[in-house]
Amino acid sequence: MPVPDAPLDILLCAPRGFCAGVDRAVQIVELALQKFGAPVYVRHEIVHNRYVVEGLKAKGAVFVEELDEIPDTGQPVIFSAHGVPKSVPEAARRRNLFHLDATCPLVTKVHREAEIHYRKGREIVLIGHAGHPEVAGTMGQLPPGAVTLVQTEADARALQPAAPERLAFVTQTTLSVDDTAAIVAILKERFPAIVGPHKEDICYATTNRQEAVKRIAARVDAMIVVGAPNSSNSQRLVEVAQREGCFTALLVQRAAEIDWQRLAGVRCIGITAGASAPEALVEEVIDAFCQRYSVNVEAITAAAETVAFNLPRELREAARTA
Ligand code: SF4
Repeated sequence: MPVPDAPLDILLCAPRGFCAGVDRAVQIVELALQKFGAPVYVRHEIVHNRYVVEGLKAKGAVFVEELDEIPDTGQPVIFSAHGVPKSVPEAARRRNLFHLDATCPLVTKVHREAEIHYRKGREIVLIGHAGHPEVAGTMGQLPPGAVTLVQTEADARALQPAAPERLAFVTQTTLSVDDTAAIVAILKERFPAIVGPHKEDICYATTNRQEAVKRIAARVDAMIVVGAPNSSNSQRLVEVAQREGCFTALLVQRAAEIDWQRLAGVRCIGITAGASAPEALVEEVIDAFCQRYSVNVEAITAAAETVAFNLPRELREAARTA
């Protein structure tokens, strides 16, 4: 337990927490509940945050992993912000399920890029992490075998495409900016004809949150990242902090998970939050520090964010009257 009233500087990263895609996905569930009443079915965690999911459950959302867990119903079925393979909306149509798509428009953009490459006869490399729902969704836009997953620099060095002169790449949106740049550099060196997005497909929110962590990592004794263990962009924030010199970087879902022993003796900490963590949880963490220290909070802003995405047509009227 720290000495009561010991001074502590908190450097609060900005931007942090909810991005426009997560905000839109949560709004879609809330507006669907408002317009259609409960239950509203949601395939997969709408975003990777238990607090958000539990809050929506309390309002009448029912979370399932697959469509076959949903009874025949006229109630809406919502697809998560991470995107889904094409087979999922097809299955929903076959069953006449009314579905709303909460896929982030920046993920949909990657889906369209992959389709265009495929139509042009290109072999496609997806840089991403196996098992993440966004990767399953992007690979599932095209027939099996059309997309090869590259997870590491070693994978990029080992890649043996059938037609190197017709190679293209796309990326998961929530990767480490620096790791991905290194993988892309290897692919470009080995396959100079490879085509891809201007930079990569890592979204503005992931990039800005990583940049804010980079700005303070060397100045703080420890970093708290508020986020879920299965949140890719939250995990990347921990890695970025460690790589930039802040070795005590802790991922916590709630204030109750803070390991105070590991923070013994700290005088300056950084706080940030993954794109699926709501601000209420950041405030909870700051309050926990305020109970133990005499806290001074300084915001460190890496970028101003003004991005907002349109809601699905079916919910725009509900949004106007909300
Ligand atoms: S992290 Fe980026 S891609 Fe993912 S939902 Fe947010 S804005 Fe969209």
